[in-house]
Amino acid sequence: MIDFSMYDFKEPEIMAYKCEKCGTLYYPAPMICGKCHSRRDPVSDAHWETFALKGPCTLLTWTRLWNLPEGYNKKYLLFGIVQFDNGLRASGRLETDNPVTGMPLVATVVSSDERPGKPVNVFVFKEAE
Ligand SMILES: [Zn+2]
Repeated sequence: MIDFSMYDFKEPEIMAYKCEKCGTLYYPAPMICGKCHSRRDPVSDAHWETFALKGPCTLLTWTRLWNLPEGYNKKYLLFGIVQFDNGLRASGRLETDNPVTGMPLVATVVSSDERPGKPVNVFVFKEAE
């Protein structure tokens, strides 16, 4: 038997949260719902529904980052903040040559090992087809 447990074959995902009581959506998840004060158990996420945050979104604002640390073979990186149809906002890497505020994008998630330590899932926003 080969032990596959160290491999993660699942597509990387970033989860958003839905308050069990009032249905308010959150990303990232708070300890306590800001609307109805329902408490989330951070270990088990008991009763709070989770769902993968991805898909169509709109670019709210963006910035170009120059002077990247050693190890990058690009001159700059683009970062953006987007809003999803459900109202949630997230920040991540922007992969488009001509970012325009208000443009439609598609949010995907990649596993990134750019930072030291364990790989983390980050958003990558691409131009909508
Ligand atoms: Zn609530």
